Amino acid sequence: MHELSLCEAIAATVTKHAGERTAAGVVVRIGHFRQVVPDALSFCWTMLTEGTDLKGCALEIEQVPAVVRCNACGSETTLDVPIMICGACEGDDVTLVSGEEFQVVSLDLSEV
Ligand SMILES: [Zn+2]
Repeated sequence: MHELSLCEAIAATVTKHAGERTAAGVVVRIGHFRQVVPDALSFCWTMLTEGTDLKGCALEIEQVPAVVRCNACGSETTLDVPIMICGACEGDDVTLVSGEEFQVVSLDLSEV
C-alpha cells in the first residue's frame, strides 16, 4: 500500500531525529503529484504508530499544489490532474516547479 510505505518512511525519519525524546507531532509536506490521500495517510499513520514509541504523535499534512512553468509562453499553471501540460497554451514543453515533494518539514519534540 502506497500510504503505508510513506508512513514507514516518515516514522523512520521521526525515530532517527527524536532519539531519546518523545515526538508529539510531525509535519510532512506532500506534493500533489504524489497522489496521496491525506485521510488514508492519517489512517495508516495511526495504525502504524499504535503500540510503538510514536503512539500519539500527531501527523500534520501540508499539501503542495502541482505547478508547472511553460517554456513556450512563460505561464505558471497549477495542475489539477498530474498531466504535464500548460494551462495557458496547452503546450507540453513545461518544467515542474512544485508537486513532487515528500519531506518531513518539522518535528515537535519534547524532552523526556
Ligand atoms: Zn504555455
